[in-house]
Amino acid sequence: MKQRPKYIIMIGPQASGKGTYSKAIVEKYGVVHISSGQLLRDNIKNETRLGKKAKPYIDAGNLVPDKIIIKIIKKRLKEKDAKDGAVFDGFPRTLSQARSIIKYVGVSAVVYANISDEIVFERAAGRLTCENCGSISGVKYIKQGQKCACGGEYKVREDDTKEVIARRLANFHEITKPVVRFFERVIDAQGQKIFIEIDATGSIESVNKNVLASLEKLFNYSKKEAKKAGKVTDGTN
Ligand code: AMP
Repeated sequence: MKQRPKYIIMIGPQASGKGTYSKAIVEKYGVVHISSGQLLRDNIKNETRLGKKAKPYIDAGNLVPDKIIIKIIKKRLKEKDAKDGAVFDGFPRTLSQARSIIKYVGVSAVVYANISDEIVFERAAGRLTCENCGSISGVKYIKQGQKCACGGEYKVREDDTKEVIARRLANFHEITKPVVRFFERVIDAQGQKIFIEIDATGSIESVNKNVLASLEKLFNYSKKEAKKAGKVTDGTN
């Protein structure tokens, strides 16, 4: 079996650039991008049962219950385009979600995009999101009435108000930081760490470069170690 990274987790607070860096990972490794926030917003837009249940949590800046999000993620993973792997953007956010995904598919790498709370506020309060495809841009870069390349309209996300940003950030520190600490200690089947921490403060280009280079280093290292140990793996643990 050819060794390649299969399931990569992108973790970090809102506005840390997780979506942007996930797209670069998709291009490089040919995996599919699974954004839990976008899946939830799609469910809300399509007025599904799960979407209706999730909406009040999202509007308040709280995490939706594990049961709902795990169900949505597992369903998405069963789609054909996810068979070669995925980069998870915004998932897992709780220890229970983390354990569930490790058990379900295994994890090749975890990238933690670390930025300060001040920068989160600065970025989140000044961003616009395409209603249709979910891509993000800064208010200062979009002219009034300008549409996204996909034809969708840019809007301020309902959960990008100051109050909700603060709630989400508090949840990140309280609930998701322990997940970061958990992954820091995870060792794969080759005895290698799977955790990478990136300073996500710089420009998109420089952080993107750093994310890809760090992943490459991690995978090349695990490949070498696997060869040495006579093991050939698909990188999923
Ligand atoms: P995001 O687009 O990743 O910032 O997510 C938007 C909102 O969706 C979050 O503030 C949560 O309310 C909800 N959400 C997204 N992913 C998860 C998750 N893995 N677990 C629980 N809630 C989530």
